[in-house]
Amino acid sequence: MIRTAFLVLPMLGACAMPPLAPVHLACLERMEGHAESLKPAFAALGYRSEVHLRLDEYLADGRGFAKSVSTLGDSSAGGSIRLRPSRLCSDAVLARAVVAHEMAHVALQHRGTPSEGIVVLWDKPPRLESEANELAHAALVRSGDDTGAAKLVACWLGKCDGARLTREGFGRP
Ligand SMILES: [Zn+2]
Repeated sequence: MIRTAFLVLPMLGACAMPPLAPVHLACLERMEGHAESLKPAFAALGYRSEVHLRLDEYLADGRGFAKSVSTLGDSSAGGSIRLRPSRLCSDAVLARAVVAHEMAHVALQHRGTPSEGIVVLWDKPPRLESEANELAHAALVRSGDDTGAAKLVACWLGKCDGARLTREGFGRP
């Protein structure tokens, strides 16, 4: 599944957008690896978690404005997940935590606040962020995660010793 996406995406990209640089293709493959390894955990918890990942540095909102650099990724209820490569491609722990968080939004069918124009992605209220983090944490633990991503999400939930909170408090998805 990962390999298929890896081969097909550059061809689709040739029609719709510039192809990803090799370093970003490798990054996207790693992100898809995180998603694949988390799917069984979401399924075991009773949630569907089919997602389509892509890297997007701009993360434009519904009005076409780039989201703040503190936004690491976002998702639609339909399963599209956008991930900011400059923040995630060089930090495997943060990347796995963000992928789990966005997959949780998809699994929980979270929808943000609709706004004007052609909107496929929305900002989500704090309550939904907490729900996503709770499910992401459960899925990471269930997956047998030993990368530190589960601990990082626990920090986002306010349940940690603060070791990574200082560094990552800025970078919540
Ligand atoms: Zn979120």
